[in-house]
Amino acid sequence: MIARVLIDGPSELVFDYAIPSEMHISEGCRVRVPIRQKTSSGTVLAVSSHQENDSFVPRPIHSLIDPEPLITPNLLKLARWISDYYGSSIESVIRSILPEAVRSEDNSAKTRRIATALLQPDPSDMAKLAKRAPKQHIILTMLLAAENRCLPTTEFGDGTAAALKILESKGFLSITNEDVRRDPEANEEIVPTLPIPLNPEQQVAFDAISSSLLPSHSAPGTSPFLLLGVTGSGKTEVYLQSAQAALDLGKTVLVLVPEIALTPQTVRRFKARFSHLTDQVAVLHSNLSQGERFDEWHRIRKGTARIVIGARSAVFAPLPQLGLIIVDEEHESTYKQENVPRYHARDIAVLRASIEPCAIVLGSATPSLESWQNTVAGKYQLLRLDKRADSQAMPLVRVIDMRIEKQKQKGQVAILSDRLRTALEQRIQKGEQSILFLNRRGFARSLQCHSCGYTCECPHCAVALTYHRSDERLICHVCGYQSIVPRSCPECDQAGIALQGFGTQKVEEVLQKVLPDARFARIDADAMRRKNALRDILNKFKSHKIDVLIGTQMIAKGLHFPNVTLVGILNADIGLHVPDFRAGERTFQLITQVAGRAGRGELEGEVIVQTFTPHSPSIQFARKHDFDGFAEQEMEMRRQFRFPPYGHCAVLTARSTHERRAEFTLQTLFTRLKENLPQGITLGEVLPSPLIKSHDQFRFQITLRSLKARPLTNHVQSVLKKTTLPEDVTVVFDMDAYNFS
Ligand code: ADP
Ligand code: ZN
Repeated sequence: MIARVLIDGPSELVFDYAIPSEMHISEGCRVRVPIRQKTSSGTVLAVSSHQENDSFVPRPIHSLIDPEPLITPNLLKLARWISDYYGSSIESVIRSILPEAVRSEDNSAKTRRIATALLQPDPSDMAKLAKRAPKQHIILTMLLAAENRCLPTTEFGDGTAAALKILESKGFLSITNEDVRRDPEANEEIVPTLPIPLNPEQQVAFDAISSSLLPSHSAPGTSPFLLLGVTGSGKTEVYLQSAQAALDLGKTVLVLVPEIALTPQTVRRFKARFSHLTDQVAVLHSNLSQGERFDEWHRIRKGTARIVIGARSAVFAPLPQLGLIIVDEEHESTYKQENVPRYHARDIAVLRASIEPCAIVLGSATPSLESWQNTVAGKYQLLRLDKRADSQAMPLVRVIDMRIEKQKQKGQVAILSDRLRTALEQRIQKGEQSILFLNRRGFARSLQCHSCGYTCECPHCAVALTYHRSDERLICHVCGYQSIVPRSCPECDQAGIALQGFGTQKVEEVLQKVLPDARFARIDADAMRRKNALRDILNKFKSHKIDVLIGTQMIAKGLHFPNVTLVGILNADIGLHVPDFRAGERTFQLITQVAGRAGRGELEGEVIVQTFTPHSPSIQFARKHDFDGFAEQEMEMRRQFRFPPYGHCAVLTARSTHERRAEFTLQTLFTRLKENLPQGITLGEVLPSPLIKSHDQFRFQITLRSLKARPLTNHVQSVLKKTTLPEDVTVVFDMDAYNFS
């Protein structure tokens, strides 16, 4: 038998080793193996009876480090499924399940050695030691004076190891190891909260979830719940109380959020509610140090941390006795991983719930049509919260036709409609707060020449460079390329090169002119480069040191500020013009979510949506807070064109620095895919990707559709296996793709 072993260390080397016949080895085991003249530790990725490369005799594995594999049987089952469904190697999946920090021995639990005095030495002994072994004398003197007669060995300074050993062998002291936890949030202050009495809608949802926490013999693993609750309907309170119910049963809870950094309020609410469970809540940030990540992982594995909150990859958290999984904002596309393995964390969560088995709740005000379709088909159970928790009205949404505004403002880039400006002025007079939202996509400021139409583009990617005023530079938002701002057009030499479009910086500029007395703050990637910048600004906003918050996608999620009565969406329809069948769905979700930030307190909320396409269905349905209406018409479109949720959609991309070679390779694959094409699979043409060039690589793609997922993945994988690709061409298969650029 052969084991493929991933060697510890940053270089991610993978080699084959022979498994000695007496050794019991399975995937996820930690082993020690020979590598060149040395030995190294590693993780077994796969066990098989044949060798990938049989031109050499594999060396045997030296030894097994832990008798138990690091991966639990349930997670291994999940790994195999992912590998099969997404067409990714089992190795790549195991790499995702066991983060590098966990695999690497360097990060292993930080322990400190503690010396404890055992005997009270005679004064004569001490006198002897003082003369003959001064180091031993100092150690004992320090120990006897210490509280509880014990001290960490580091206290004695360097060069005392031998002395300690002798004292231990003479029985004067004992040395023990003590785990030290590296606590990433050791100095954070949390104000505890108590459960709120549920309203009738919440009660129904809670009862359904809590009664499914104990899988009975008659119904092992009940179906997933889709909690469709309008913004501010109290979904989070339902999550919190359901989590408590699971803990009360002695189970553990996994909470997935789209992005930890962008959902600080949700994370805090969990920490606050469970603050009495000291050390039992683990938050898996992407900015944990390797050591912290190692510690958190093992705290989870041991069952010490019983509530885990994290983004996408936390779906693999090794919680024992899992009782409940919550996927908040289940529609968010950040749940889809855009690198190998290209899994969707929400779908994996649903699968994990059925494997464990445990209860699962997917929550959103704007569910994905995939999840919605599952409720229609009876696979998921629908729970609804149609009213806001505190009986507040939904905010009033007005749609402003920016085509008319543009005429009024004489063809200028109209940023602020009259209506929105007046509304802002009123809020400032009344001491209320506002949020202005700018749809970032395609609306950054770029430089264009008025004479010849030349646009400053990135030399490595087929996109316009974005102007950043703070450091007077043009920056590529795809690859990070930077250049200086030209004074005249590089193409025709005319001086008429000028800024097109607008960004958050421009909005702030305009606002400062229109509302000179107001206090503004900006939340965008630029402003957030400083650590804790987001938290600081949100805290200032909360304590009303800021009147108007301007931001991009970063402020669309989960924020709750009772004093915000106005939300302006500056450019609502940009998302509609991208070549993506989900464009309408994204626009609907974005407007509904952003609008949901208004009127969340005692005061009524108003939302002003500026758009050039006021009659588009996504905008009209969002205006009426009508998810059902939107879903009905959007599903009809999807059905007609056989787009998801009716079947699956995958993208096969080829990229290379040589344009022709990328195209030719994909053409070859196309021809082979077409031969013996299984029934029910639709194969699209070879087309240039919408983002034709990125990081100096040219990109071509084929879109495939199929009613069933497996036959599609299997067919593509079998063709890929049989085709030798040119060395400088990379081919990527993305099952259930979300990104079509
Ligand atoms: P959602 O997550 O659905 O957007 P939240 O959970 O943020 O909604 O709830 C909105 C507000 O309503 C919060 O301030 C929350 O504390 C409050 N709330 C939730 N449930 C109740 C309830 N049963 N009674 C009164 N207020 C509630
Ligand atoms: Zn670039």
